[in-house]
Amino acid sequence: MPYTAKPLPFQKALQGISEKTLAIHHDKLYTGYVNKRNEIEEKLSQVDRAAANATYSEYGELKREESFAVGGIYLHEYYFGVLGGDGSVKGDIIKALEAEFGSYENWLADFKAAGMVARGWVVLAYDTNDGRLHNYLCDSHNHGGIWGAFPVLVMDMYEHAYFIDYGSDRKTYIEDYLKNLDWDKINQIYQSIKK
Ligand code: FE
Repeated sequence: MPYTAKPLPFQKALQGISEKTLAIHHDKLYTGYVNKRNEIEEKLSQVDRAAANATYSEYGELKREESFAVGGIYLHEYYFGVLGGDGSVKGDIIKALEAEFGSYENWLADFKAAGMVARGWVVLAYDTNDGRLHNYLCDSHNHGGIWGAFPVLVMDMYEHAYFIDYGSDRKTYIEDYLKNLDWDKINQIYQSIKK
């Protein structure tokens, strides 16, 4: 069953992040991961498994790129899924962040610092292994994910997310990303993970 690309989950224009960036990001890049995932799954249905080899084999390359494409799809869906709000910070998630990091400001400082160093993604995740919230960093769609940790809030730090609008000024991009967050949605995600 082919995977279907999801539409952007918000209608309004974002603050700072242009429609041009969003169109490229969603319609070309995200949708491209969906198409590649479907192409890979089709090829996996016919590949020669007897030729599987750790150095090079068609099967091996398809499996490596499968995790890249699938990670790219889900991380972008989490990213787009929390945008479209007015950035008003609220809800139970804030109490949880205060409990874990000492204060919301402490969490935010760490989240921003992670954004300054990430080559791919910053993921605020609820980790079911220890029952705690963490800011995890992934340098690629298929590197750095923690098994059993559920994303609550995901920030794309690939250059395609900000370079058209901000050049190399990732700091201002991070500030604008925060202004566009929908904390009602973030709280819903957190509550559903906790259940
Ligand atoms: Fe992206």
